Amino acid sequence: MEPRDLSTHVPYEAGRGIEETARELGMDPDELVKLSSNENAWGPSPKAVVALRESAATVHAYPKASHTDLTAALADRFSVEDDQVWLANGGDGALDYLARALLAPGDEVLVSDPGFAYYAMSARFHHGQVNKYPIRKADDFEQTAEGVLDYYDGERVVYVTSPHNPAGTEMPLGEVRKLADATDEETLVVVDEAYGEFSETPSAVELTRERDDVAVLRTFSKAFGLAGCRLGYAIVPRDWSEAYARVNTPFAASELACRAGLAALDDTDHVEQTVEGVRDAREYMYDNLDCPTWESQGNFVLAEVGDGTRVFEAAKQEGVIIRDTSSFGLPECVRITAGTPAMTERAVEVINGAL
Ligand SMILES: *Cc1c(COP(=O)(O)O)cnc(C)c1O
Repeated sequence: MEPRDLSTHVPYEAGRGIEETARELGMDPDELVKLSSNENAWGPSPKAVVALRESAATVHAYPKASHTDLTAALADRFSVEDDQVWLANGGDGALDYLARALLAPGDEVLVSDPGFAYYAMSARFHHGQVNKYPIRKADDFEQTAEGVLDYYDGERVVYVTSPHNPAGTEMPLGEVRKLADATDEETLVVVDEAYGEFSETPSAVELTRERDDVAVLRTFSKAFGLAGCRLGYAIVPRDWSEAYARVNTPFAASELACRAGLAALDDTDHVEQTVEGVRDAREYMYDNLDCPTWESQGNFVLAEVGDGTRVFEAAKQEGVIIRDTSSFGLPECVRITAGTPAMTERAVEVINGAL
């Protein structure tokens, strides 16, 4: 026998592991500068590392209090009800829960092009169909309600990425509200704020307090430096707890992930240092890259280098791993994660050399 027809599905292309690339180049993994996956270049919160160690001895037991504690801590931070927080295995896991809870077979969703690949993947896993709206380079990737509504045709879910990956632009809160107002009552606007900590724009979470057609996605993978733990969450409209109870995979986030998340949330110094370091790195790239860049509100910068694949390959040969954005439909660009000063300076030097 065979699995069902998966021909409309596309495998997720994760940035390759640093060990694998080092082996291919005949280099030590420590020599590589990896700025391709928007990870936290400063590492995880030291408090989270302690929490992981301390929790290791009790992983024979199913998670219990940590899940509830983290849910309560996040609800408190965002001033929402506990049952509005849907913890998951990464932000990606939270996207799956939303798709499971919202989509009936054949329902349609609307995603941005270029955009984050997992929205469409998740929708298709849940037997949904995917339509696209453009975010145009010619408009410097500006995001407006009208730009989405021009392509909106009653889809069940509309995904907005703010800050956007890979462009770095945002949809202002007023535009999100306008979009939610203009779409049908039965359309959920999902605002993906995976990079929200790096931005100064107010979060769309406030809309989840006042209306029932907006959800916000957040993750511990970026600013909190816990990408390897897989921990993220959605903040959903009030009174959807019954849906979460019905669709979540039991123990949606692991004990280790929840303990690390609780510790990282408390470590304000770590997040502040990360955010400051990211701002400096972005400025350094705008000022020193010998090619056009776009101002970014995320922990990365999109740069127009001409032939992205060539520059990506040339940088790789020098041990600097950046993201070729061909798979986003931007073959003339690369995306460079904000690194420590040493990493960022090295990346800029190598990219300028390749231009
Ligand atoms: C990184 C990212 C996520 C979430 O990633 P997880 O590691 O699954 O939490 C979601 N959306 C965008 C746009 C991202 O870049």
